[in-house]
Amino acid sequence: MRAGYEPVIGLEVHVQLNTRSKAFCGCSTTFGAPPNSQTCPVCLGLPGAMPVLNREAVVKAARTALALGCQLRERSIFARKNYFYPDLPKGYQISQYDRPLAEQGGLEIPATAGGGARRIGITRIHLEEDAGKSLHEGFADSDRFSYVDLNRSGVPLIEIVSEPDLRAPAEAHAYLSRLKQILLFLDVSDCNMEEGSLRCDANVSVRRREDPRFGAKIEIKNLNSFRYLQQALEYEIERQIETLESGGRLRQETRLYDAASGRTHPMRSKEQAHDYRYFPEPDLPPLMLDAGWREEIAASLPELPAARQRRWQTEWGLTAYDAEVLTGTPAQAEYFEAAAKASEHPKVTANWIMGELSARLNAQGLDWSRVPMPPAHVAELVKILNAGTISGKMAKEVFEQAWKTGRSPRQIVEESGARQITDPAAIDAILDGVLAAHPAQVEQYKKGKVALLGFLVGQAMKASRGQANPELVQERIKARLG
Ligand SMILES: [Zn+2]
Repeated sequence: MRAGYEPVIGLEVHVQLNTRSKAFCGCSTTFGAPPNSQTCPVCLGLPGAMPVLNREAVVKAARTALALGCQLRERSIFARKNYFYPDLPKGYQISQYDRPLAEQGGLEIPATAGGGARRIGITRIHLEEDAGKSLHEGFADSDRFSYVDLNRSGVPLIEIVSEPDLRAPAEAHAYLSRLKQILLFLDVSDCNMEEGSLRCDANVSVRRREDPRFGAKIEIKNLNSFRYLQQALEYEIERQIETLESGGRLRQETRLYDAASGRTHPMRSKEQAHDYRYFPEPDLPPLMLDAGWREEIAASLPELPAARQRRWQTEWGLTAYDAEVLTGTPAQAEYFEAAAKASEHPKVTANWIMGELSARLNAQGLDWSRVPMPPAHVAELVKILNAGTISGKMAKEVFEQAWKTGRSPRQIVEESGARQITDPAAIDAILDGVLAAHPAQVEQYKKGKVALLGFLVGQAMKASRGQANPELVQERIKARLG
């Protein structure tokens, strides 16, 4: 970032809600079905077909709004957003315009400097339907034809519009990743960016630091991965500053990000000269969310990641970093929660889950919803370890066995006899042999070469095949050799 300039960024995020049926008809929303197999007169836009609002879509949109601290409007209005495109059979999209579902929320992101958190305002959240998909590639006659798949036509979306409160590409990245985390915990979307369930446009301008006014707002479309979002913003901010520095002027426009070149390009002006001619949708009554329904939805909200992190820190003594990592996905949070409760040692459990278990999942390409080892087994291992039955080194071997065989750690320890030796008499018996086998070292230790203690402990551990309690071995050697 060049000194003297400040970027001003806002994000518009489209989220596909994971309802079973579409927003205004009963068609399935399952991804990947054969083209145009999930359609009906309503989502094909046939004349006379009437939309009926999906209650589940309203509930999921309202849950999101409440989780993001928004005010839910008691009466919101659907509107027609008119434009022509081949994948929009009705010639308009049902959306919300001047009476959206919810307004005035916010989301906390970690502050880039000085620690703490920064609140990013959310202007509005509204409900709308998705368009179909135009397919320009992958057909034998793609040079002459484009194809249209209307399976996605009418799938429910919410659009979440932030205030222009973000001040760096890294902050935009953090905002989107926090937002995605909350959406996953709410179970309102699968947030799969590759399948288009989460899509992001950015508005970005730059201004001189002392200037209270915003610069010309430039919209960038096509930011469909976290990496593209950050790269496109970095490129665009630099481009805008260079234009201003070289005496040029910026004007409001829409640009597309091209991942291959890493640059943004202006869209053809015809494509951005939209006049949507919004007007109220005559086929849908106003959406009424009375106080009772709003309260019911509020009461159904799960514990969100930020609240969980705080609880784990205050009640279980986890570090902020550990709590953040362990709330990476709802499945991971649930796994840890179950293991930590059963083990009664949350911190040690966190270490095992973030260490051994994560490493194995990564190595095998598994995610947290498909962990082969149940949380109860991790808890068992932690309990055995904490009771001093086995050493840390043995615990790793037991973990390995439990992972490979699916057997319970307690069973593995009992059957292998791999218990830690904590009986002083048994340790002394081992030391008898070790001390007799190394008379020279024993002599030197007695004369004051205390560094040999480590050597003798090592020999005793070896003689016990790792089963002796090392602290006790050390204690007994000291006692016996004075
Ligand atoms: Zn349909």
